[in-house]
Amino acid sequence: MSTAAPNTADDPRWLEFNRAGFECSCGQRHVGLFPINMLVPVGWTGGRDYAPDDALDLTGNFLSENFCVWQGQYYAMRMRLPLQIQGAAPAAFMYTVWAGVSRADMETYVAARKDGALCNTTQFSARLVNRIAGYPETSNLLGIAFQQEDGGPPLLLLAGPQPGANPGHPLIGEERNGIGLDRALELFAAYGHDMQTNPSTRSH
Ligand SMILES: [Zn+2]
Repeated sequence: MSTAAPNTADDPRWLEFNRAGFECSCGQRHVGLFPINMLVPVGWTGGRDYAPDDALDLTGNFLSENFCVWQGQYYAMRMRLPLQIQGAAPAAFMYTVWAGVSRADMETYVAARKDGALCNTTQFSARLVNRIAGYPETSNLLGIAFQQEDGGPPLLLLAGPQPGANPGHPLIGEERNGIGLDRALELFAAYGHDMQTNPSTRSH
């Protein structure tokens, strides 16, 4: 595999993907990147129907689109984990993932969101609680979450000391360095969106 970052913006396949789209194994035609959303945190055994975010209950079991509480003891929030497309910034392959946080940090976040006081530089510790397909075990990777003033899920930056002293996890490197189109197609395929059989996606 080449270590040189591809100039994806000039790749005819990238232009085709964004203009006409690619036929997919899921039966749809996808035009451009779309997010891969993790439904629930790893270990969640409750129902999968989302309550309204505003009904958040920190004392029992709760699941909404953006918040999860388990037995009033474990707290997780949906966050954005982007992988920049090399040479095509700001385009990014986007996961939305679940990340474990402290109760205090969740309360601070919820209050700021309610008050319209989210701030892009306000950060807090977070721990990924999803197993992302296409990678070695990703749950428990540690990072820093940043509030997002647009009101969307916080940005999760994987960084710092890691469990098992594993700073070389490929997801950390790909978040830092970005990915090329071929890797993006691999990651889509890992979630049942295989567009690699489309003649237009072949690199040669
Ligand atoms: Zn698809």
